[in-house]
Amino acid sequence: MTEVAYRESEEREALRREVARLAKGYGREYFTQQARSGGKTTELWLEIGKNGYLGINIPEEYGGGGGGIGDIAAVCEELAAQGCPLLMMVVSPAICGTVITRYGTDEQKCRWLPGIADGTRTMAFAITEPDAGTNSHNITTTARRDGDGWVLNGRKIYISGVDEAANVLVVARAEDTRTGKLKPCLFVVPTDAAGFEFTPIPMEIVSPELQFQVFLDDVRLPGDALVGDENAGMVQLFAGLNPERIMAASFSTGLARFALEKATAYAKQRTVFQAPIGAHQAIAHPLAQSKIEIELARLMTQKAAALYDAGDDQAAGEAANMAKYAAAEAACDAADRAVHTHGGNGITQEYGMAGLLVAARAGRIAPVSREMILNFVAMHSLGLPKSY
Ligand SMILES: Cc1cc2nc3c(=O)[nH]c(=O)nc-3n(C[C@H](O)[C@H](O)[C@H](O)COP(=O)(O)OP(=O)(O)OC[C@H]3O[C@@H](n4cnc5c(N)ncnc54)[C@H](O)[C@@H]3O)c2cc1C
Repeated sequence: MTEVAYRESEEREALRREVARLAKGYGREYFTQQARSGGKTTELWLEIGKNGYLGINIPEEYGGGGGGIGDIAAVCEELAAQGCPLLMMVVSPAICGTVITRYGTDEQKCRWLPGIADGTRTMAFAITEPDAGTNSHNITTTARRDGDGWVLNGRKIYISGVDEAANVLVVARAEDTRTGKLKPCLFVVPTDAAGFEFTPIPMEIVSPELQFQVFLDDVRLPGDALVGDENAGMVQLFAGLNPERIMAASFSTGLARFALEKATAYAKQRTVFQAPIGAHQAIAHPLAQSKIEIELARLMTQKAAALYDAGDDQAAGEAANMAKYAAAEAACDAADRAVHTHGGNGITQEYGMAGLLVAARAGRIAPVSREMILNFVAMHSLGLPKSY
């Protein structure tokens, strides 16, 4: 058979099937049960780690599978499509794993990557601050040199999974000794470091993964807690952003597929007049629209991943932004249509559709909002003036 360019490789398709089979063994019921009882998804996390899926994008010499972002994005999407969307996949292997692989010393890679790959030493990521928000150039968490080491002070907000993480990759600002200006740098901070505190933020998302406020109060770190070059923090940070967007897009397309599958199954069996409700175009067409929107978003996500894995960071940046936008929109619409298709059942805990709304909606806000993507496309793709 001739190779079709617009199809993923046989190997990638097989990976998707294997992950879907594993995740199906857990399923949505497990996920919501853990969320509602204050439990965690540790068994699932460790099982995907043990099977090599969690570290599939990490180099083989550091315990990973030697694959690319396209592979880890496929894992993330298939988990979500079975009702188990894992936010920490976006953070630990994709952002932290990528930044450390690209910029860490060999010693740092040996220390942190194997635990990220097998899931035993998850790494969270902290950039967002209460007063800076979307404008991450305004972050005020500072890193001061202290002999051979560093002292960090500041506050972070909405940081996912700190309670499940061994370390957090923290973006802080260090003083440039030449200019006196503050420049962003990346530090690995152990969650049990003295002066590192975190408290959960009550969120409306049905997920065992929680968000936290983080307080750094004179947190002392050794010199080698700094990842990469002190003077190239911004470039290094951007290295983690394309993977983050591609993963966020996959999280959303997986969630959207799950919602659509539930809605379609329900529309086929629920009959209130002569025929199943799916025979009414008012129900069928929105679901068909979702199918199209999801497939378009998946295609752009796969394109972004392929460009990234081919080393074309600039083209990957544009595609990753577009994919993230399209996927979040597709997920919001699919979740809303799934609720509507279920009628009153759509709002019950038993059917679990309404719980998807907030998770899908979060995709329009985080990790980068819809508006900032539109700003990016307006400026970089269309050449329009910067608006902010
Ligand atoms: C579930 C969840 C998990 C998260 N996990 C993490 C994490 O692990 N680590 C981490 O560091 N952060 C995390 N975040 C934070 C997330 O990245 C931020 O919420 C996001 O970047 C938006 O920042 P903000 O909430 O401060 O909103 P704000 O910056 O206050 O923005 C509010 C609104 O104003 C709009 N806006 C702002 N500026 C402009 C502009 N110039 N033009 C047009 N519109 C604009 C935004 O689009 C948004 O709609 C998480 C957030 C959520 C919801």
